[in-house]
Amino acid sequence: MPQEFNFVSQLTGSFSQSAAGNPTVAMIEAAYRHHGLDWRYINCEVSPENLGDAVRGARAMGWAGFNCSLPHKVAVIEHLDGLGESAAIMRAVNCAVRRGNKYIGENTDGKGFLLSLEGIVDPPGKRVVLFGAGGAARAIGVELALAGASSISIVNRTAGRGMELVRVINENTPAKAELVNWQSEYKVKPDAGIVINATSIGLYPNVHDGLDLDIESLRPGMVVANVIPNPSRTRLIEGAEARGCTIVDGLGMLVNQGVIGIKYWTGVDADATVMRRKLEEIYREQ
Ligand code: NDP
Repeated sequence: MPQEFNFVSQLTGSFSQSAAGNPTVAMIEAAYRHHGLDWRYINCEVSPENLGDAVRGARAMGWAGFNCSLPHKVAVIEHLDGLGESAAIMRAVNCAVRRGNKYIGENTDGKGFLLSLEGIVDPPGKRVVLFGAGGAARAIGVELALAGASSISIVNRTAGRGMELVRVINENTPAKAELVNWQSEYKVKPDAGIVINATSIGLYPNVHDGLDLDIESLRPGMVVANVIPNPSRTRLIEGAEARGCTIVDGLGMLVNQGVIGIKYWTGVDADATVMRRKLEEIYREQ
C-alpha cells in the first residue's frame, strides 16, 4: 500500500493589534507538539478595519477557531454566528470556536480563572471581593456569579465603570453585586472567601506597585487570587501568602485559558504543566 500523506495542518490562531508581544502562540504550540497534534496557531496582526476580512479568511481556510485579543473582543461579535452564555452576558469574546459550520463566540478569560480555583475553593455561596471593573474583572465577575458566588463586591476607582459591572451581574445572574468606590485603603471584611485583583496593578514593568489594601485585613483561610501573569509573584501574592492565605496566581489563569481553548478546538485535554513551563521560560528571558 502506498503511504498516504497529509500535508494540511489544522489551523487556529489569534487576531489582535498589536500582536507581537502576545506569548500565547508559544504556549499553545508547545501543547500541540507535546500531544503530537498536527495543528498550528498563527499569531496575526489585524487592524480594526480588517477584522471582518480576517474572520472571513479564517472561515474560507477552515480554521477550527481563533482567539481575539484587544481591540477586537467586542467588535468581533458581529462577525460570528452566536455566543456562549457568559460571552452573551459580558458582550465580549476572546475565543471563537467552529461548531458545525458556525463560529460561536466564547469568553475563556473568566473560565480560565474558574479552572484555576478547582481543587482550591468552590465558588457556590462564597462572598467575593473583586478589585477592578475592566475586561478581566467583568469576565471573572460574571463567571463567578454564574458559578454560584453569593455576593460580589466590586472595588473600583472609577465609579461609572464599577456600576456598569454591578448592573451586568445583578441583571443577569442570581448573585448580588455591589460597588465600593475605591478612594482610600480598602479593608477586606472577615466573611470574604475569595479576594481577587483584576486590575493591572503590579504588571511588568511596574512590578513594585501594590493595591491600596490593608494587607492585615487578609486572613488565613481566604483565597487570594491575582490576574497578573507577569510577574506571577506580585506584591499582593507575596503579602497574602505571608498572611497565611491560599494564593492563586495569574499565570495559572493564562495557562488555563489555553487549556480551555485547545479543548474547544481539538477536543484534547492539554497538559497545563507543559504550557506553564513554556510561559515561565519566556518571562524569565524578559
Ligand atoms: P482594563 O484596562 O480593561 O481594566 C483595568 C482595571 O484596572 C480597571 O478597573 C482600572 O480602574 C484598574 N486600574 C488600573 N490601574 C489602577 C490604579 N493605579 N489604581 C486603581 N485601579 C487601577 O484591563 P483588563 O481588565 O483587560 O486587564 C487587567 C489586567 O488583567 C491586565 O494586567 C492583564 O494583563 C490582566 N489579564 C490577565 C489575564 C490572564 O489570563 N492572567 C487575562 C486578561 C487580563 P478604572 O476603571 O478606575 O480605570
